[in-house]
Amino acid sequence: METTLILLKPDALHRGLAGRILARFEDKGLQMVGLRLLRMSPELAAKHYAEHVGKPFYEGLVSFMTGSPIVALALRGPQAITVARQMMGKTFGIEADPGTLRGDFGCSKSYNLLHGSDSSESAERELSIFFPEGLEDWSPIQAPWFWDAE
Ligand code: UDP
Ligand code: MG
Repeated sequence: METTLILLKPDALHRGLAGRILARFEDKGLQMVGLRLLRMSPELAAKHYAEHVGKPFYEGLVSFMTGSPIVALALRGPQAITVARQMMGKTFGIEADPGTLRGDFGCSKSYNLLHGSDSSESAERELSIFFPEGLEDWSPIQAPWFWDAE
């Protein structure tokens, strides 16, 4: 089992896509173990996007991400990190395959609806930023039909 951090970015909320994106993850069988609506501060953005500080797109990325609220989601499931990244598609909608979230819902080179952790190290680091008090541990009643028997 893995847990990944997903952020629904400001464009997802402005466009009223938060529920539909969440539904796609639920349909896939990923379990919600954390959910928050919050406004990212520049400090939080610098922490979350530490690997991108100094890159040409960094300032624009921070103003986009801090401009209005986001939703932080912790999702759990078998290989959840890889599964969520595959569902998101490539970074920008114009390159993302149809059928992926970014591929189906956008074609912008600046706004791309969501963030997803890219490795188990990133997931652990990012989950502790957005969910410092930990996650909700519970057993979905449908889990035996979604997930392989252990
Ligand atoms: N980004 C951007 N321009 C770029 C590269 C990245 O605006 O040329 C933004 C975009 O919002 C992206 C985020 O920075 O989601 C993080 O970039 P990364 O390469 O980690 O892409 P991701 O992991 O989100 O697919
Ligand atoms: Mg990334």
